[in-house]
Amino acid sequence: MTNLQAFKEAKKVIPGGVDSPVRAFGNVGSHPFFVKSAKGAYIEDIEGKKYLDFVQSWGPLIFGHCDETIEKAVIQTAKNGLSFGASSPLETKLANLILKDFPYLDMIRFVSSGTEATMSAIRLARGYSKKDGIIKFEGNYHGHSDSLLVKAGSGAATFGATSSAGVPKSVAENTFVAIYNNIESVKEILNKNDNIGTIIIEPIAGNMGLVPSKPDFLKALRKICDERNIVLILDEVMSGYRASKTGSFGIYGIKADIVTFGKVIGGGINAAAFAAKKEIMSLISPLGDVYQAGTLSGNPVAMAAGIASLTKISNTSNLYEKLEKLAIKFTDGLKKIAKENGISIQTCVRGSMFGYFFTDKEVENYADALTSDLKLFSKFHTGMINEGVFLAPSQFETGFICDAMSEEDIDFALNAAKKVMSNLKK
Ligand SMILES: *Cc1c(COP(=O)(O)O)cnc(C)c1O
Repeated sequence: MTNLQAFKEAKKVIPGGVDSPVRAFGNVGSHPFFVKSAKGAYIEDIEGKKYLDFVQSWGPLIFGHCDETIEKAVIQTAKNGLSFGASSPLETKLANLILKDFPYLDMIRFVSSGTEATMSAIRLARGYSKKDGIIKFEGNYHGHSDSLLVKAGSGAATFGATSSAGVPKSVAENTFVAIYNNIESVKEILNKNDNIGTIIIEPIAGNMGLVPSKPDFLKALRKICDERNIVLILDEVMSGYRASKTGSFGIYGIKADIVTFGKVIGGGINAAAFAAKKEIMSLISPLGDVYQAGTLSGNPVAMAAGIASLTKISNTSNLYEKLEKLAIKFTDGLKKIAKENGISIQTCVRGSMFGYFFTDKEVENYADALTSDLKLFSKFHTGMINEGVFLAPSQFETGFICDAMSEEDIDFALNAAKKVMSNLKK
């Protein structure tokens, strides 16, 4: 079966042929490949074509596909039962591993997806602050729960418009949208509304391309939250154990009131979490009256994968330095090749995460990101796929380096980029 045939079959029974929209390659005007298997830094489609994989399941696989340590832990644990609906010590073990890395947090609760983590964190924050209003930032993504599927309205100081059909206006009315890296936009909203008790942000945004917050901005945001008793949620679902071992905390040193985790902490299986100080976490049921639950929460196989991943991260010296070096090699190479071909590009690296925008404007927020040349991106993406390099099929996503990648792999990708970019403007 070819990729195209598989896609056709899938589309008959699954909307758009995919279980998550970006996988459909709609943003780059082509069709997706279907995966047969993957190993290390490479992924192979059902036609037998191999790609160097800069997607890495959108972040979780920091050691690449089929890492032996993680695979072994998963298989051994699976033999003892796939799910219990009762507690196992594995949950406490992973909890302790994460809390050791974030010593200012006291307690953590596991869920199955990043969406669930941020949704639960918002409910907890509302339960704690006793206020319904929340602020999020334009271009930040926190999963697909109703309160968070909101985009900027006409002015930053008005409440947001829903960004999906099916989200009740009454829910969106409690979500206000501020401009990333713009503290005045936050103040403007707060000065006009007194029902805001929560601010949620990707401290290192990875869902509008890679756009880190500026240190002064994040510091000012923390200060405003302190002054006004607002719960600050740092969404580290992507940046946690990716931008640095301790995510944005390791880079900025800013403490959140609630932190959300996902992706790497499940090592490729469904696990995510939210964590906070005891005072806040004590409100979660069964201790308190903020309800939260899950049939597969703390799943033993996912916990085992997470434990194996985080233990290996701890045991691998200079891991993030090595990953960052490869990320910089790739983005510096892209910059050089773009320049040789008269193409405008902005690049960014934070640990194992990298981003690139086809624009001459420095990207600090979503509006800046939108100045990118999306046609050029599409052509570049399709060209790279043809050359055997799998980059995220959207300009507004982040790229991921994994530990299974080598300098030679980056050279391979840069050679491909050279070939593709020299044909782009023709
Ligand atoms: C991926 C992501 C989510 C959502 O996680 P899912 O597991 O896809 O539900 C939430 N927040 C951020 C910052 C993410 O990158």
